[in-house]
Amino acid sequence: MKRLKFLLALWCAKLSVIALKVTGHRGTDFPGRVAVKICPDFLHQARLPSRILGVTGTNGKTTVCNLLIGMLRADGKKILDNNQGSNTITGLTTAVLRDMSLGGRSRSDVAVLEIDERSSRVVFPLMAPDFLLINNLTRDSIMRNGHPEYISRVLTNAMPEKTKLILNGDDLIASNVAPGNPRVYYGIESMPGDVKECINLVNDLQICPRCHSILEYTSRRYHHIGRAFCPECGFHSPRLHYTGRDVNEKEMTFDIDYRPHPVQDDAPVQRQADPGNAAGAEAPAGDGWTHRFRILNESVFNVYNVLAAVSYLSELGYAPERIDQLLQKTEIVKSRFQVEKMGGYSVIKQMSKDRNALGSSRAFDYVSGLPGDKELILMMNNLSDAAVWSENTCWLYDCDFEFLNKDNIRNIIVTGPRAKDYYLRLKMAGIDDDRISFVHDEIDAPGALRLYEGESIYVLYGTDSIDLADQVVARVKEVISQRTKDAPAAERGTAQ
Ligand SMILES: [Zn+2]
Repeated sequence: MKRLKFLLALWCAKLSVIALKVTGHRGTDFPGRVAVKICPDFLHQARLPSRILGVTGTNGKTTVCNLLIGMLRADGKKILDNNQGSNTITGLTTAVLRDMSLGGRSRSDVAVLEIDERSSRVVFPLMAPDFLLINNLTRDSIMRNGHPEYISRVLTNAMPEKTKLILNGDDLIASNVAPGNPRVYYGIESMPGDVKECINLVNDLQICPRCHSILEYTSRRYHHIGRAFCPECGFHSPRLHYTGRDVNEKEMTFDIDYRPHPVQDDAPVQRQADPGNAAGAEAPAGDGWTHRFRILNESVFNVYNVLAAVSYLSELGYAPERIDQLLQKTEIVKSRFQVEKMGGYSVIKQMSKDRNALGSSRAFDYVSGLPGDKELILMMNNLSDAAVWSENTCWLYDCDFEFLNKDNIRNIIVTGPRAKDYYLRLKMAGIDDDRISFVHDEIDAPGALRLYEGESIYVLYGTDSIDLADQVVARVKEVISQRTKDAPAAERGTAQ
């Protein structure tokens, strides 16, 4: 009877997949919703691939998943993934049933699944990942996620016993999830830009999670990402199994040291019992390896993403040389980061997650650190919120708009439903009126470009304005081609 219900759910959902295809609606969760409605434990009953690889965390999940999918496909594996749909229970169910034969059998060897942090409590009881990577836990939409320590607790409570964790050891919130589970840590050795005091507005881990004294950071990359210890109780950042180092922006490479039993200890105080170090804390340094890998772009954030994916494949038993080969064959997803050269200008589409102060701060920091003149179009407007709920704009005041107060950012075009909020926030960041343009509709925003010679034009868009961002980029290119036709080069770039 149970099986019959499962098959009924599968067939109804499969029919809805066909119906959606016919009517031109792709990439929705609807089939998964149908399946869960008929058979609530659909995922539990489904015969899944023999290995389930999960990825969760606040930022970078999709990139890490795409790297894993690309590398495993390059290795000839058949992959079940949810990168076309959502990362909640209905999105995962949709991915699983799409992959299934009518008899309910999976057609893939491996599942690579992006799992929403909060959805873990409904997903994990039905489907336990063999491995789970947590890239970071930082402040996200406050209305959805509250605080990262709350999310950490949700994950810890839901974590299946057998799941091996692959954790960012430079993130003390992520690295303390489910302390009883087997785990390895990855992180990046000190870098030239590291600081000790937090220069960001958001600093989500200031006190010791164990004794609540003030933590001391020995180095800090940004926000709470770095290495810290508690002078009172000895709590400290975990030892790293996978250490990234020597990022070479010219060669676009970095090195990774793998130590199965890391012994280095960067806490200057006596180390006490360390529940976060189940993996051979007292064992001598065993066989490891050191290898050079390519990076995707020069942002530290993406170095973490590659490090995460390499650590993951190493945990699956791949040798570093093979991981390197597979990585070389992998193209990072084009929709998130796209550069086009045109008439001496660079047009760049850059995802900058709305509602996510830290994600947008990282994007702003990265863009502002690049050389050359720039103009920005800010269009992270939480478009889907307007339809169903009232969005909280407090994230704008957690986000480091101050990074945009740089001389070579010559013009910031604020546009869309939140344009006035952006204008106010930019004024608070000390940016003068002559460097801000206000355009009501996104599609008209490129008309306010000033086109300084040789500059880069960034279109910063949110998670629900991907299609609109494509239209705006197309419009930017029209404006460039029109103006370069109308005016000789010497006259351009002087307007203020
Ligand atoms: Zn403490």
